[in-house]
Amino acid sequence: MLVLNDPSLLQTRGFVAGRWSHAVSGATFVVCNPASGDVLADVACMAGDEAQQAIDGAAAALAGWRKTVATQRSHLLRAWAGLVRTHVEDLALILTSEQGKPLVEARAEVLSGAAFLEWFAEEARRVDGEILQTTRSDQRMYVLKEPVGVCAAITPWNFPMSMMVRKVAPALAAGCTIVVKPAEQTPLSALALAELAVRAGLPEGVLSVICGAPQEIGKVLCESHTVRKLSFTGSTATGRLLMAQCAHNVKKLSLELGGNAPFIVFDDADVDAAVEGAMFIKFRNMGQMCISANRLYVQAGIYEVFVDKLQRAMKALTVGEGTQMGVQQGPLINPAAVAKVQQHIEDAEQRGATVLLGGRQHDKGHTFFSPTLLRDAGRDMLLAREETFGPVAAVFRFDTVEQVLEAANDTPYGLAAYFYSRDLHKVWAVAEALEFGMVGVNTVMIANEVAPFGGVKQSGLGREGSRHGITEYLELKYVCMAA
Ligand code: ADP
Repeated sequence: MLVLNDPSLLQTRGFVAGRWSHAVSGATFVVCNPASGDVLADVACMAGDEAQQAIDGAAAALAGWRKTVATQRSHLLRAWAGLVRTHVEDLALILTSEQGKPLVEARAEVLSGAAFLEWFAEEARRVDGEILQTTRSDQRMYVLKEPVGVCAAITPWNFPMSMMVRKVAPALAAGCTIVVKPAEQTPLSALALAELAVRAGLPEGVLSVICGAPQEIGKVLCESHTVRKLSFTGSTATGRLLMAQCAHNVKKLSLELGGNAPFIVFDDADVDAAVEGAMFIKFRNMGQMCISANRLYVQAGIYEVFVDKLQRAMKALTVGEGTQMGVQQGPLINPAAVAKVQQHIEDAEQRGATVLLGGRQHDKGHTFFSPTLLRDAGRDMLLAREETFGPVAAVFRFDTVEQVLEAANDTPYGLAAYFYSRDLHKVWAVAEALEFGMVGVNTVMIANEVAPFGGVKQSGLGREGSRHGITEYLELKYVCMAA
């Protein structure tokens, strides 16, 4: 049972074109707490019909919304951010209950969501056009920036609050309307945000949130001619499928897909800082982040020291239900996630890695996994090629800069990379040579509303956050006038 200060934040119906609605079919699906397996709520299980209603609502609302002045949209986003901050405790509890992460991380995610809303409230007012130098004295030329139109967003379960806000805030700031489909594991966070958007005064139809059948809803959103843009965060496999579905009407796309982040520690690094960074970026959200360090490359000269210090830090991690004080590692999202982690470890062991810590399920329950440290990882292992998405630190050894760059870039993914070095020359060279959309140098704290978040290669298209984030929801219109 979820006991909230404000019980009306626990919404279980979809929010379709300005109305809280049950599914047309009357169907519901169960949302469970991944730590305990307890049922949290029965949520309206919507499908294609409701997706179409939401699109129609967004289309009807568009004409009015795109004509509002930017200040008005900015004020609404600010009001929404204020409500998110006011209700941070309830929102964090909803998030932890359906997703599992420790409350302290949930609070940080909620506040980061508020920061994104505030950032795009500011950016809304800076969408300026251009006046061009004319090439003919009888003509004047200018460029307008216009909202793309009706948008759709499909979001994942690992950051259900911030992933939704990163898409919705720039869309609304730009003057677009939007239909959101959250992940089936974590719909309650998105519905609570919608409730606060209503309270902030968002006009009817501007935002809809529909939960339920992913394939059916996805198909309607992708194939609709009314929806002009899809923004998706999730697996590369699903992203590829959605991209194909969007191809026939040439829909604009933003895709934030999988990663396989290298985390490189050179001999000249501050080892304690590197261990601290590895602990954060490996174990935050139990390693279930697309920017999690997936491959820890450590240079031969400090390999043993690093492994030893990391092992000591990992031993101190407290595993348990996210709502309990002091817990740093909650459950994984479901038993399938546990099975994948287990498979990666078994494969690594068969190929010559040694388990120094963990390596199996944790006795807290069937979705809990012990923080695992593997040494002597190699590039033929599954965990070198795919995201493990779990609390497994696999440490690879390397000798030279060239060797580690070749290995780090040897992946179809290109989201985030991190490295630690105190040699300025190496810092420049390595930062430039890494084929990733984001590079952390002597830090892993790279994600915030001010910076462009996104990847290259099969990690996706487009950027979220920063001043570039809003351009994903804008079209350029060039106007050429004869005098
Ligand atoms: P994961 O495997 O981590 O759950 P997914 O990419 O499958 O990642 O899920 C991310 C989001 O994509 C979720 O909201 C999920 O419901 C949605 N999704 C999954 N498959 C489809 C699909 N075929 N069409 C539309 N959305 C989908």
